[in-house]
Order: sequence, then C-alpha cells, then structure tokens
Amino acid sequence: QAKRGGRNKLLFYDPVMQAALETRAVLECDLRCALAEQQLVLYYQMQVNQTGLIIGAEVLIRWQHPQRGLVSPLEFIPLAEDTGLILPIGKWVMDSACAQLKAWEHDPVKSKLQLAVNVSAMQFHQEDFAEQVRRTLARYDLSPNRLKLELTESLVLDDIEDAIVKMQQLRDFGVRFSMDDFGTGYSSLYYLTKLPIDQLKIDQSFVRNITLSQSDAVIVQTIIGMAESLGIESIAEGVETEEQLRFLELQGCHLYQGYFFGRPVPLADFEAQCDYSAQPDLQAKES
Ligand code: C2E
Ligand code: MG
Ligand code: MG
Ligand code: MG
Repeated sequence: QAKRGGRNKLLFYDPVMQAALETRAVLECDLRCALAEQQLVLYYQMQVNQTGLIIGAEVLIRWQHPQRGLVSPLEFIPLAEDTGLILPIGKWVMDSACAQLKAWEHDPVKSKLQLAVNVSAMQFHQEDFAEQVRRTLARYDLSPNRLKLELTESLVLDDIEDAIVKMQQLRDFGVRFSMDDFGTGYSSLYYLTKLPIDQLKIDQSFVRNITLSQSDAVIVQTIIGMAESLGIESIAEGVETEEQLRFLELQGCHLYQGYFFGRPVPLADFEAQCDYSAQPDLQAKES
C-alpha cells in the first residue's frame, strides 16, 4: 500500500541519520586508504613508577586525516572494527611498536622501556594471533618482555577458553598482559585467577573521582588490594592531579599514566621526555 510505504519511507529520510551514514561511508572509504597513504601515526604516553622514572609508554594510534586533521581513535577504531580494517591496522601498530623497540636497542635509557599495545577483540580472536605476535617479535629479534599487550575484560570474556590458551602461549613465550579499563566490565575474581595477567590497569573513570567520590575511592582501593593479593601489578590510568597521585600511592598503586605526567605525544617528543627524565643532574636536584 502506498500510504504505508510512504510512512515507512519517512524513516529513511531522517536527515540527521542520513548525514551520519554518509559521514561514516566517507570515513570508511578514507580509512581504507589511510594505511597505504601513511596517514596513521603512533603517539606515546609515558608510564612512570613511584620515583617518576619513565618505565615505558602506551602506544596510542592517531589518524592524520588530510581534511579533518587529527582524528581520535575513539572515532575510527569502532569503524575499523566493524569493517575488519582493524586487522591490517592492528598488525601495523604491533609491527611499528616492535620496530621502535628495536630502534632503541642500543640506547642506554630507551633500551629498557616497555611498550604497551592495545589489542582489539577481532584481532585477538584470529586463529593465528599468538603466532603473529611471536613472529613479529622474532623478526625484530626482541626480548618478548619488552612488549605488553592491553586486553579488555570483555575481549577476554567473549571466549574465556580461547583467551586462556592464547594468553598462556604468549606468556610462556615472555609477553606480558595488562587488563585495560579494569573495573568497567565484569571484573570477576574467577577469571582473574584463570588468566596469566601481569597488570591491572585501573580505568580512568574511577581515578577521575577518587578524591571526590567515596564509592570510587573504595573501588580503586579494592582493585589495588585485589591485585596485590593475586600478585598482579596495578597501574592507574588518567592520573591528572597531585591529589589523585597521593591517594593512589597511599593505597599501594605504584605505576601511573596520565596527563599529570605527560599527554600522548609524537615519537620525537616522547624520546625527548625520556632523555630529560634520565638526566643525572635533574635526579640529583630533586632528591
Ligand atoms: P585506552 O587504551 O583506555 O587509552 C587511554 C586513553 O585515555 C587514551 O585516549 C589517552 O589519551 C587517554 N588519557 C590518558 N591519560 C589521560 C588523562 O590523564 N586524562 C584523560 N582525560 N584522558 C587520558 P585515546 O588516545 O583517545 O585512545 C582512546 C582509546 O582508543 C584507547 O583507550 C584504546 O581503547 C583505543 N586505541 C588507541 N590506540 C589503539 C590501537 O592502536 N589499537 C586499538 N585496538 N585500540 C586503540
Ligand atoms: Mg589501553
Ligand atoms: Mg585504558
Ligand atoms: Mg580507557
């Protein structure tokens, strides 16, 4: 019936929806070229220990779009996941991180750094994921413990048996694992004891409010205590203020990442941060 068809059609002419779909289609098309055109870049955000020493960095992808400028991963990673483009992109990130670790091999300071790489679900669930990581490390002749893989709870819980097998293989090989955004998912004690996890990364949504909200403070305290009891290291993400740092320190969390220490920056800036923080006269002045 014409009337009905007309009504149904209205749904497709929603201009806001239409615009969103078009933007997405254009972005998807652009993203297909982004790798080949070398528009994807890696930023590095320092991770520090209790003495303020840089122990490594999280590798965070950015898209230098010719028209749109720097596009956030929050915008294009979901698109990359939906389209499967996350597979070549994820491989490129892993390869680039390993190439960087290799390039630092003979540097007195930077040869000790660890790089944390984010792994998305589709990437992890590929049958040969563990083998891919092993091959990449071997190709650059790297010690596997320089690489830390950040997984989310939902990724691990998609298929816990698969996660156990792959993580164990990589762990036996020497690769380290961090549970990203910890506390936002299911956070079950059961799976924590079944998986070879080295680090819990406390989600920034809790860290943001630890000095304001009693319940967030309790959650963070609990996560830190839980990690400690299980012999897992804890790191806080999104540390922005000295007050947050003091609280975390007091509760026994000794590794930090956040704007208080440094924002994600291009490689050259991160290298400069490392060289600066390793200056002996600077250390002497502070102690
Ligand atoms: P994430 O892995 O949880 O990364 C932490 C995010 O928090 C980063 O956002 C970082 O810039 C931001 N951040 C760090 N410190 C602070 C702080 O003190 N305050 C605030 N407000 N934010 C802070 P970014 O770089 O936009 O990345 C967003 C997400 O995109 C990441 O969240 C990660 O899930 C994903 N992502 C980034 N790079 C990759 C990648 O190479 N592969 C995959 N699969 N995902 C990636
Ligand atoms: Mg992460
Ligand atoms: Mg995170
Ligand atoms: Mg997060």
